[in-house]
Amino acid sequence: MSNLKQFPVTSIKGIGEETAQSLQQAGVHTVQDLLEYFPFRYEDYQLKDLAEVKHEEKATVEGKVHSQPSLAYYGKKRSRLTFRLLVGRYLITVICFNRPYYKTKLEMGQTVTVTGKWDQHRQAITVQELQFSPFKRNQEIDPIYSTKGDLTVKGLRRFVSLALKQYSEHIDDMIPPAIRMRYKLLERKEALKAIHLPQSHEQLKQARRRFVYEEFLLFQLKMQALRKMEREQAPGIEQRFDSGQLAAFIQTLPFPLTNAQKRVVTEIAKDMKSPYRMNRLLQGDVGSGKTVVAAIALYATVLAGYQGALMVPTEILAEQHVQSLQTMLEKVGVRVGLLTSSVKGKSRRELLEKVQAGDVHVVVGTHALIQDEVQFHKLGLVITDEQHRFGVEQRRVLREKGENPDVLFMTATPIPRTLAITVFGEMDVSIIDEMPAGRKVIETYWVKHDMLERILQFIDKELSHGRQAYVICPLIEESDKLDVQNAIDVHATLTQHYHGKWKIGLMHGRLSAEEKEAVMHQFSGNDVQVLVSTTVVEVGVNVPNATVMLIYDAERFGLSQLHQLRGRVGRGSEQSYCVLMADPKSENGKERMRIMTETNDGFVLSEKDLELRGPGDFFGRKQSGLPDFKVADMVHDYRALEVARDDAALLVNSESFWKEEQYALLRSYLEDTGALNGEKLD
Ligand code: ADP
Ligand code: MG
Repeated sequence: MSNLKQFPVTSIKGIGEETAQSLQQAGVHTVQDLLEYFPFRYEDYQLKDLAEVKHEEKATVEGKVHSQPSLAYYGKKRSRLTFRLLVGRYLITVICFNRPYYKTKLEMGQTVTVTGKWDQHRQAITVQELQFSPFKRNQEIDPIYSTKGDLTVKGLRRFVSLALKQYSEHIDDMIPPAIRMRYKLLERKEALKAIHLPQSHEQLKQARRRFVYEEFLLFQLKMQALRKMEREQAPGIEQRFDSGQLAAFIQTLPFPLTNAQKRVVTEIAKDMKSPYRMNRLLQGDVGSGKTVVAAIALYATVLAGYQGALMVPTEILAEQHVQSLQTMLEKVGVRVGLLTSSVKGKSRRELLEKVQAGDVHVVVGTHALIQDEVQFHKLGLVITDEQHRFGVEQRRVLREKGENPDVLFMTATPIPRTLAITVFGEMDVSIIDEMPAGRKVIETYWVKHDMLERILQFIDKELSHGRQAYVICPLIEESDKLDVQNAIDVHATLTQHYHGKWKIGLMHGRLSAEEKEAVMHQFSGNDVQVLVSTTVVEVGVNVPNATVMLIYDAERFGLSQLHQLRGRVGRGSEQSYCVLMADPKSENGKERMRIMTETNDGFVLSEKDLELRGPGDFFGRKQSGLPDFKVADMVHDYRALEVARDDAALLVNSESFWKEEQYALLRSYLEDTGALNGEKLD
């Protein structure tokens, strides 16, 4: 196929400069572009049995005229013509607006084909198109293309047909026959014809199947090739640490590891000891205990004589991590430093010096960590927490701080399997799928906003027992003024409500780092009992004494985000509660609230989230890292995705793939896309 890239569209007979310019507006420059400019939907003129057509759905039927048409005018130009049509065993009414001339053309008993909207109650069709002839089979499904500028659908159909006619013998197939046969896939040439000019639904389905597999296979080949290259060309550090010493450290922890934690620690330790560079994604639900796993890995790198870095998305989280890491690591002689943008002046300079000299073993920080001024003495391990908030570029810069340090990405938002395969396809994955023993399940309730009074009473009761509560207000972007206002209002309301009884804190993204820290400090010290906040507390914050999470306008959050918020409570030994205040209007919104009350399993929720919101929204707007598939749909076609991933892995790791002629096109595809040079893929 690559050869068709060389031909500009003007090389197609019948396409001149002018057309070429129109096509350019749609990003179509070459013959290949044109052939891969797929229809985004199809107009379906296939004959349908009216019994199967739903109310208000469009249908094409063929029938015999069964009554004289009657014509009524209203106004000068407007008219309505109706007649009866016998369609199989149905006698229906056909209505045509503003086409009075049909009256003389229609004859009793004549066979006509009618396309229009079906009114099931009245058993009537309102005509969009009428042909005074039987149904023509060769135009059952018409492709509809998205158009730009002066392009028209009709024009595009013609251009594509011309291209197919002239070039169909030149269309190569990258997928070798053996694979095609295995899955009974159409050859590319046939599939292209079928996707542009389908003769039947079955053909269209087969064409689609072929392109779904092709898109997934090519994408996964890039991922798997990259992974192989990274392993072979950028050897990692063989970190030599004494497993006995590591085990002894694990003994000093205040609790035994869960089996899942033990398993992932083994996986990580093995990667670190190997000469390959670790490139691993650690997934675990909120509260599953990822921090301690990170601490163990960091200790391992220190034992091996290296430094570790932990990068997190917010300052609050950085501060908390420093605290918990210090508690665990300082007693074994590991020095942990904090580097955020609020560490300034002399203390910053001193810290940077110590990092450079290797006197600080582990540095925790926000993206400040990837600034040029930060030089490590000997960086062996980089961990990023809440991984998907960092861009690919930031991850790369951090990785390049050392000589191929091992990399561990942690995410607290369980990622649906299909997305994990796509977005993190080049990584190994470890999953903590078990909660520490003795955790109480958080009780979740969904209430309407008019229940606020009762909720506040309930919170009052919990506070009287010495507990604390979070109250979250929606916030889409951190700088969104309106939403901050929202938190400020709620804060004022609660301050008034609990006046003289409880102290209410306020937290949002517009506070300075010092202010945020002060508020968090008050809250974790129970000087403030209720913390009103935007979603800045979403990630990682740990105050075990808090037992109530109240979320305003909960329908505005995605399931994974709600689950994250809910994970802020249930961290201590007391029973905890999550109250979702929401009056969702859509069925989808109601469904999401119901699901929240039904499950505490982050993996289940993430799959649901993906199903309800689609892949684009799953990671949020800012940075999705999602590839753009033309035909394939990650959610619906996930079986194909898995198959393609396995095939791709087998291929790139087989010797024949790099030698045999049948894979030559796939190899040159990989070369063209830069995957073989380890270039960025997104
Ligand atoms: P997350 O995976 O959300 O980052 P954390 O690492 O913050 O979870 O752990 C949540 C809480 O569970 C912490 O208070 C931590 O000390 C505790 N914890 C972690 N592992 C265990 C374990 N194996 N047994 C008991 N408690 C644990
Ligand atoms: Mg965490």
